[in-house]
Parts: sequence; C-alpha cells; structure tokens
Amino acid sequence: MEAIKDHYLFGRDLARDSLCPFCCLPDSPSHTFFACGAFLEERQSLQSELGHIVEPDNIVNVMLKSESHWNSVMRFVRLVLTTKHLKMYPPVDIPKGAAGQSSTSN
Ligand SMILES: [Zn+2]
Repeated sequence: MEAIKDHYLFGRDLARDSLCPFCCLPDSPSHTFFACGAFLEERQSLQSELGHIVEPDNIVNVMLKSESHWNSVMRFVRLVLTTKHLKMYPPVDIPKGAAGQSSTSN
C-alpha cells in the first residue's frame, strides 16, 4: 500500500514540478497552448487568422465555427507539439556507417 502511495505521490510531484523546456515556468498543456512565450508569434498569427483571442474558455467554440478555424487551430497544435517534442527529445546524431552497417561490407 505504501509503495502505491509513494508511486502516486512521486508521479504527482513530477507532474507538479515539471518546468516548460522553453521558459522554465510550470509546464502544462494549458501553459504550452495559451501562454508560453516561445509560441507568442505563432499564437498571435493564429489569433489574427481566427479573429479571436484564444483562451481555455472559448477555444472549442472558436474551433467549431468553421472548418477553416478548425484547420488553423490544428496547424498551431501540430507546430507547437512538434517543436516541443524536438526540444525535449532532440534527435540523436548517429555517425554515418554506425547504423547497422557491417565493417566487412567495404
Ligand atoms: Zn513555456
């Protein structure tokens, strides 16, 4: 029982303590989407396209206004998630010839 509690608390602490990889403020989906300064330009561009300031309280209604609104938000979400993923998990640079090539093939 104690192990389950520790695991639960540890997981909660990790989530509470995780910081945004761009600005070091507490991280959350809401921070990334609506507030992080790393995506300020893209968010302003999105809001300009939509004609709305996007906020947690109105994002669903804004997205459902039209297919164009939906697609604009989806483009922003893809960009943000891809950029964030690459920041958190940068691609590993594998030297040429190191990936699955045998030294006897030359
Ligand atoms: Zn941030």
